[in-house]
Amino acid sequence: MLLSSLFASPRAVLELCVHSVLCIFASVFSKVRFLYRGACRGAQPLVSAVDSRPEQRAEDNATTPTSVNYHFTRKCNYKCGFCFHTAKTSFVLPLEEAKRGLKLLKEAGMEKINFSGGEPFLHERGDFLGKMVQYCKADLQLPSVSIVSNGSMIKEKWFQKYGDFLDILAISCDSFDEETNQTIGRTQGRKSHIENLYKIRSWCQQYKVAFKINSVINSFNALEDMTEQINQLNPVRWKVFQCLLIDGENAGEAALREAERFVISEQQFQEFLDRHSAVSCLVPESNEKMRNSYLILDEYMRFLDCREGRKDPSRSILDVGVKDAISFSGFDEKMFLKRGGVYVWSKADMKLEW
Ligand code: SF4
Repeated sequence: MLLSSLFASPRAVLELCVHSVLCIFASVFSKVRFLYRGACRGAQPLVSAVDSRPEQRAEDNATTPTSVNYHFTRKCNYKCGFCFHTAKTSFVLPLEEAKRGLKLLKEAGMEKINFSGGEPFLHERGDFLGKMVQYCKADLQLPSVSIVSNGSMIKEKWFQKYGDFLDILAISCDSFDEETNQTIGRTQGRKSHIENLYKIRSWCQQYKVAFKINSVINSFNALEDMTEQINQLNPVRWKVFQCLLIDGENAGEAALREAERFVISEQQFQEFLDRHSAVSCLVPESNEKMRNSYLILDEYMRFLDCREGRKDPSRSILDVGVKDAISFSGFDEKMFLKRGGVYVWSKADMKLEW
């Protein structure tokens, strides 16, 4: 009955053929699409008519907090004249709240956390910091956990307890001349900042933590040649920053520091870099590269937007979540990549000789 009616209508036969061909194409396309998505988990989704809706595009463009700097305390025992994260509050989040925020960041894509300050070893004599470092490595399994410190409060006991969980320890050192460190304020009393630096370097070796040095180039050290000492200390990276002014921190009326006398020109900075061109681990950071290429979280877990030359806070990720807060961070992802923000940052991948 069906066949006879079909043969009676050539138009119906044609429609049936076209329909079948379309069904075959649709089925093949949906299989290919499924396979593609399955094989590329984490890659950009396949672009389709549905995916090109504006809200989906916005989602795809959302910033991922791959590498985050958490300045969990502003307090410090040093008084560096150019400090651009000053002790404007003494607030520190309770440990459980800080851990909740770190977990939110991990869920949003964080791979590297850097703990900074203020001086991060000051609060609870480094135990608060140690617990966060352990949580990030052992519980959250972050590929990279690092700290930036002035080094003055670190004890060997800390390495014994928490060293396994730490990938990189960066110590700030702007000069190998004690007088210059005194002038800059990179010191506490008459303690030797440089002796301490060498001691920490040997602990890093002993407890298998990658050792890094950060230096701020300013009007007091711009003419120095540090090649010999840096080669001796042999850090995995030597970050060299151009002294930066931030309104409300080290410049302007509400600031706790007046850093104008520390500022150097682009040319002076370049001359310093040229003098150290033989140091292969040197990573330079001019003001331009530095300003918006860091995701900075303050003591309340608010992202700080530095685009206007000051630090404008977002709302806390603990209140509004990472996605909402990060949209106010002013973060320049392109500059982050251009300045080499992604590198081998897990000690397991560094192949270091301990
Ligand atoms: S060591 Fe110096 S630059 Fe670092 S937080 Fe303390 S005062 Fe500021």
